[in-house]
Amino acid sequence: MVRSSVLDPNDPILHPLRLGANQFPGAWAYTMPKELRGLKMPDERRATCMNCPKSCYEDYRADYRCCTYHPRIPNYLLGLNALSPAGDAALDAVMARGLLLPEGMHHAPGQWYDYLDDLENEEFGRSTKVLCPMLDESNGYCRAHAFRNSVCSTFFCLKDHGAAGDEFWSQVQTLGTQVEMSLSQWALHMVGFDLDRYYQTFTDLSSEVRNVSSVSGWKDYVLGRLWGNWKGREKELMRECGLLASEHRDDLWEIANSFEIKESAKFNISMITSVPDHLKNQIDEEDLEEDEDSEAAKPRDIWKQATKAYEKLWDLPEGHYALSGRVEIVPNHGIDKEALYHHDKPYSIRVYTRKGSRTLDWRMFIDEQEFQLLQLFREGRTMDWTLLLHPTLKALGRGKEFVAEMLKSKVLVREALH
Ligand code: SF4
Ligand code: SF4
Repeated sequence: MVRSSVLDPNDPILHPLRLGANQFPGAWAYTMPKELRGLKMPDERRATCMNCPKSCYEDYRADYRCCTYHPRIPNYLLGLNALSPAGDAALDAVMARGLLLPEGMHHAPGQWYDYLDDLENEEFGRSTKVLCPMLDESNGYCRAHAFRNSVCSTFFCLKDHGAAGDEFWSQVQTLGTQVEMSLSQWALHMVGFDLDRYYQTFTDLSSEVRNVSSVSGWKDYVLGRLWGNWKGREKELMRECGLLASEHRDDLWEIANSFEIKESAKFNISMITSVPDHLKNQIDEEDLEEDEDSEAAKPRDIWKQATKAYEKLWDLPEGHYALSGRVEIVPNHGIDKEALYHHDKPYSIRVYTRKGSRTLDWRMFIDEQEFQLLQLFREGRTMDWTLLLHPTLKALGRGKEFVAEMLKSKVLVREALH
């Protein structure tokens, strides 16, 4: 059955969903637990993508930055994106590389080995061979911005909340990935695509894993076998999946929790065991432990882990805290591109790799009120109710959150009292 409905261009599922200071796919309003929208997300102020610190001060490519990666974007998000001419052109680019499978954009083993090779040679961010086809080279923008997958949506190279932020985003990413896998397969099932045949084909291909990839994606004969009688109607299938997701949007979270995900464990294991010897270091031992009977975690259970990680983001543990010996706060003299970008912030927190070192680990620009709040910790201070009621903290408006951020990023460290 081919769906003929067209979505209203203003439909929120087609536009980025703003949560705090960051944007996520509009579909998250329906595919993720509704409680997610009530969370106070970290702003991630240091990952300023269009003034990317990794390309300004490290050696990431200025054009692709961290998009030296092939994300798995589920079919329903590609289909919703393809409802606009720009998204449709982006889908053509994905297909031209041989990276489109019925589940969505999906790298072939060869592209995964290229990615491992980049990791092995510390070429992530500098790669010449792993470049996302969704990136518009003319301006550096993502052509799937409102339809990115969960990995791209939760990737922040520098985290405001340090390890606690890392844990939180990693849980949200795992949650999103699981939901995306489940819903992409559900959508295929709903359009009548034969999932059993599809995964059996992967199993049949497991003995020739080293031969299924071209230089940029899956070989044509492999695509022919995987697509079956949908070959030649790939874009139609993506759009169908997108419209199905839209049509059933109010039930997507429950569907993601109850639809049984299928896969070919044999193909997955064969892909891992076929990794070239010089890249074996990049493989997780536990990736090999997968078997036909292993069950995927339910999104609901992953969500519980994510909420635990969330609580840790904002807690203010008791103790006596002071500015770290690795930290210096200096005026922002606007002497480089990043400093100029933050011209409205009069100070910069400079965090060195260790006390006494002049090697900068990271820096962050702050405003006058944030500066004044940090001054309260110059001589050390106890984290208690008097701090919470202090006029300097109150003046900031989100003073409590700022202190939590400074604790998690180890700008403020606990002092032992003798
Ligand atoms: S996440 Fe980080 S590396 Fe990637 S574009 Fe943004 S600032 Fe640059
Ligand atoms: S989908 Fe967009 S954000 Fe993700 S890697 Fe590609 S260009 Fe970058």
